[in-house]
Amino acid sequence: LMLNIDLHSHSTVSDGLLSPEDLVQRAASRGVQVLAVTDHDDIGGLARARQAAIRHGVHLINGVEISVSWSSQTLHIVGLRIDPQSPPLLRGLEVIRSSRAARAQGIAADLDKSGIHGSLAGASRYAGNPNLIGRAHFARYLVERGYAGDVKSIFRKYLNRGKPGYVEHSWVTLADAVSWIRNSGGTAVMAHPGRYSISTVQMRQLLAEFKELGGAALEVVTGSHTPEQYAIFARYAKQFNLFASVGSDYHGPGESYRDIGQLPELPEGCQPVWQQWSDLMAGFSARVNT
Ligand code: AMP
Ligand code: MN
Ligand code: MN
Ligand code: MN
Repeated sequence: LMLNIDLHSHSTVSDGLLSPEDLVQRAASRGVQVLAVTDHDDIGGLARARQAAIRHGVHLINGVEISVSWSSQTLHIVGLRIDPQSPPLLRGLEVIRSSRAARAQGIAADLDKSGIHGSLAGASRYAGNPNLIGRAHFARYLVERGYAGDVKSIFRKYLNRGKPGYVEHSWVTLADAVSWIRNSGGTAVMAHPGRYSISTVQMRQLLAEFKELGGAALEVVTGSHTPEQYAIFARYAKQFNLFASVGSDYHGPGESYRDIGQLPELPEGCQPVWQQWSDLMAGFSARVNT
C-alpha cells in the first residue's frame, strides 16, 4: 500500500480558498495520510490545521513557502517540519509580510494607471489574512469585476511580469530563506522548478547554489508539472544529490491544477524526502510494507 502524502498546500492564511480546518478535512476525505500546510510567508494557520488534523487522523507537517528573489527571478522555497516558534524564521516572515503590504499598494497604483480603480480595497476583501496580500487576491477581485473570466486569464492579462499590474519586488535571499528553515530544524525544498523561466545553465547554477546552502530536496511531482517535467526534475534531483518531494500546491476548488492528494507517485530512482524522517516513517511502516 502506498503512502498518500501531499507536501504543499495553501489555506486562507495565504492565498488558498479553504480555511486551515477545511483544507485538512478535504485532505482527509481524499485519503491523504500525511499533509504539509505550506502557506506563503506565514505560519499562522498551523495551530488550527493541527487541531483539525488530530480530529481527522491526518499526520500534519508544519510547513511554509517562502518568497525569494534570485538573479531577478522569484523563487519559492518550501520549508517542511519547521519549528513554528523559531525566532529567526518568525522575524524573517514578518519582514516579508510587511514588504507585501507595500507591494500591494504598488500593484493597486499600477492598476489605477490602467483605469482599474479600488483594487487594493477589492483585493483586501479576498484576503483571509489582512497581513498577507498577494496577486491571487487581486486576481479574484479582477474576475469579480469582469476583467476576465477566470484567475488564470487575469494573471495572463494583468498580473504576470510585463503586464500592467506587475511590480518588480525584492523578496528575501535564497541564503536567508534556506537558513531560516534549517535553523528551525526544517527541510528546505525547491518548489515547482518547472515554473521558473530560466535557462538550463541557470537551473544548474541555481540547484548547485541551493545544495551548497543546505537545500535538501526538489519538488519533482507537483500540480503544475507535466509528466515530462516529472522525468526532467527527477534527473536533476539525482544529479544534484537532492531528495525528491511531492505536493499538489492545492489552493482550493476551481483554482488548482490538481486536487489535494491526487498526485502520481515519484518516478523510479527518486529518493523521497520523507525517507529521512525516520520517526514519521516508523509510524507508517506497518501499513507501507504490507
Ligand atoms: P504572489 O506571491 O503574491 O506573487 O502570488 C503568487 C501566487 O499567485 C502563486 O502562489 C499562485 O497562487 C498565484 N499564481 C501565480 N501565477 C498564477 C497563474 N498563472 N494562474 C493562477 N494563479 C497564479
Ligand atoms: Mn499561491
Ligand atoms: Mn509557489
Ligand atoms: Mn504554493
